[in-house]
Amino acid sequence: MKFNTVIIGGGLAGLTAGISLQMAGKSTAIISEGQNALHFFSGSLESMEEAPQRVVDLFAQAGIALHYNPGYRLMPMGTLKKSTLSLEDISLFPETKIGNKALIVSFSGYHDFFCGFLQEGLEKQGVQCRVQLLSLPELEHLEKSPSEMRSVQIARTMDLIWENVVREIRILLRDEDTVILPQVFGLKDTSVLSRIRQGIPAQVVFTGTLPPSVPGIRTQMLLKRRYELLGGTYLMGDQATGAHIHDGAIHSIVTHNLGNHFMEAENFILASGSFFSKGLRSNPFEISEPVFGLDVEQAEDRSDWYNPEFMREQPYMKYGVTTDASLHAIKGGEPIKNLYAIGSILGETRPELGTGGGLAIRSALEVADQILKQTEE
Ligand SMILES: Cc1cc2nc3c(=O)[nH]c(=O)nc-3n(C[C@H](O)[C@H](O)[C@H](O)COP(=O)(O)OP(=O)(O)OC[C@H]3O[C@@H](n4cnc5c(N)ncnc54)[C@H](O)[C@@H]3O)c2cc1C
Repeated sequence: MKFNTVIIGGGLAGLTAGISLQMAGKSTAIISEGQNALHFFSGSLESMEEAPQRVVDLFAQAGIALHYNPGYRLMPMGTLKKSTLSLEDISLFPETKIGNKALIVSFSGYHDFFCGFLQEGLEKQGVQCRVQLLSLPELEHLEKSPSEMRSVQIARTMDLIWENVVREIRILLRDEDTVILPQVFGLKDTSVLSRIRQGIPAQVVFTGTLPPSVPGIRTQMLLKRRYELLGGTYLMGDQATGAHIHDGAIHSIVTHNLGNHFMEAENFILASGSFFSKGLRSNPFEISEPVFGLDVEQAEDRSDWYNPEFMREQPYMKYGVTTDASLHAIKGGEPIKNLYAIGSILGETRPELGTGGGLAIRSALEVADQILKQTEE
């Protein structure tokens, strides 16, 4: 199998790079082993204070509407967090208070949305709260097994019965100016979000639940669909296990499922994420990158990897693979000519590219542009 570019990792970084290259007519494949950080996505992209139109368009073409109002979003514990570029699920408030009176609504048997914490947090900010649990007959089949009563399962049903929820909330609503709902709407049909907002005579705020994140899973599905519609090959559930390297360049990739059928390409992009996605691994002696054995920036003394105060910033989260100015990955001190590293596997080694979602998107676009420029030359 031969492609222009093979990408390892199908999270935000890998998909952004893959879509950009496919849009420019390049043949690409993404190998993606498992869950990625989008499955836990809050709905707001970190360090995207300024979003170039190109990013907004790339998402819009995939069916993902992003909006940006400098402001604050409501967190699951009832606190407010400064926020940047966000999905349409996320309400951004100009001031640090969401309203005066809030009705918090959840569903009986659903334990992944903490109404009590939300109420406590909001009341500390002077918002009067009332909590109501809706008993919906359509959710009874999920209630029989607590493992089924999860955000995504509920969201599948909600896409069909959201009008019943609106009707029930209209009956419950007294003089509240705000209705707070868990993010379990619009999994497949995002128009449900605006229709709920239109149907309830108060501002409606959708707030985070325990993972998996419904807006995150939707984002992943839509980006993947866009990539495949553009002709990209997405090898779901496969794992890159090694590579053939000759003369400082990657010749092909070995994957778990393809065995002796190696994946050849002119360029390779490593977008395998950080520790969370096993793009980086650690043992008591070192932090390593498992596919290519790349150089990883890290403190020599293990006791410097972490801060013993658990809630403090942890140094190991900043570690990542080292790259040259063009994001070529470095192995044994030398850049590999046709291997680039993007996204959270960079840790905070490239602060100029931002953090979180901002880093994933910026580094992906940067590398896609370089690959395209290289073929023009
Ligand atoms: C739990 C969590 C929540 C986050 N929430 C937010 C948020 O709300 N907003 C924000 O801006 N940032 C958030 N971040 C930061 C996040 O790192 C970035 O936003 C971004 O999504 C990272 O994308 P990525 O593509 O670099 O890596 P990932 O999303 O981690 O994707 C890497 C993918 O590569 C795959 N992979 C790994 N090794 C291999 C291999 N050998 N072969 C094949 N596939 C492989 C993994 O299975 C995974 O699917 C969050 C991070 C975490 C860990």
